[in-house]
Amino acid sequence: MKIFKGRIFSFLRKPEDINDTGSYIYLEKGGVTFDDKGIIIEVDDYSKLSKKYENTETIDFGSKIIFPGFIDLHNHFPQTQVIASYGTKLLEWLNKYTFPNESLFVDDKHCERESKIFLDLLNHNGITTSVSFGSVHPNSVEYLFQEAHRRNMCVIAGNVLMDRNAPDTVLEKADKSYLSSKEIISKWHNVSRCKYAITPRFAITSTPELMEVSQTLCAENQSCYVQTHLSENIDEIKTTLELFPDQKDYLSIYDKYKLLSNKTLLAHSIHLEMNEIERMKETKSIAVHCPTSNLFLGSGLFKFKELEEKGVRTAIATDVGGGTSFSMLRTLDEAYKIQQLGNYSLNPLASYFWSTMGNAECLGLQDQIGTIKTGNCADLIVLNSKSTPLMRHRMEKCKTIEEELFILQTLGDDRAIDSVFIAGKKIK
Ligand SMILES: [Zn+2]
Repeated sequence: MKIFKGRIFSFLRKPEDINDTGSYIYLEKGGVTFDDKGIIIEVDDYSKLSKKYENTETIDFGSKIIFPGFIDLHNHFPQTQVIASYGTKLLEWLNKYTFPNESLFVDDKHCERESKIFLDLLNHNGITTSVSFGSVHPNSVEYLFQEAHRRNMCVIAGNVLMDRNAPDTVLEKADKSYLSSKEIISKWHNVSRCKYAITPRFAITSTPELMEVSQTLCAENQSCYVQTHLSENIDEIKTTLELFPDQKDYLSIYDKYKLLSNKTLLAHSIHLEMNEIERMKETKSIAVHCPTSNLFLGSGLFKFKELEEKGVRTAIATDVGGGTSFSMLRTLDEAYKIQQLGNYSLNPLASYFWSTMGNAECLGLQDQIGTIKTGNCADLIVLNSKSTPLMRHRMEKCKTIEEELFILQTLGDDRAIDSVFIAGKKIK
């Protein structure tokens, strides 16, 4: 058992606006205790905890902020080495850079090395839960799960399903994908802190047979998640509708194969029709915003306010390697700028809620991760708002915790992530 001492910030519910001080707990001289299994026992003022747990080791983080670990709801672990690839938009970027790189994951040694590097980079940036695409090779997620298990990290992942419109080296026949997915589900789903997501890449790389396989996997494994891409790029949408001419819009393809539910994560969801927005609301499926990727690939501007007002659930993610940063702080900063272009100033409470409790709720895991509360895992990070000369200087004028969070997301990066703990165990 241990006590962490410092300033503590954690959400209690979704904030309504920037003045909604009842949406979070903020303890200036706070403490959090957790047991040897890394489960949080109590959060309170440090003075009370230190009396109650007299002989317990205290780790003092001074004036730094103890915060829930960030949750990344969409990324691609086989794309770490295609980050920062120049000069293309989505479909060309996939063909020129991504598919050739993903084909390297046929090699076990490569999978093993990349799994470790990928999770190291996430953890280094304060991300303690990851929802990830593997490559088409079942062993890519096998190694990712092994590495997640080794560090007791919550990782939700799936081998990507694709059987057309890409090089043979990243395609797998639908019947074979069914068997390999089934095998990984039985080996890893709900084992350690790993969970499986059925992962058809997107409609373009899926034959109707492969969509049927996805449907069957969903029906047979209802506690698994579904992750895919939706309406990221105008050319993508056009090609998609040519491949599925009997469907009225992009989302209807996934709907036809019964892939939409409250466990379905739809990355990007930028260029949506009214019907699609309605259907996402009805099915409670989740629009996952990937700001650095949308800007980098010139895909478009996410309509956060419209989706929120229409009652669609939204989440936030890095989408590395289309996304350009493993940092959730950099991601929140770009999300803010995208909303500014739509004349809406996304407030820092909303964005930090997204990256912690909000994303946890989207996964249905709010009683395990995303907040600092009794019974949750001690997936904790320590934020340092004075981690660069500019931040130190700017912080001299800072008056409120909301302002401090905004400074952190606007100026901060991995240097602002002082320490990272997964289930109470130090990893940075
Ligand atoms: Zn993606």
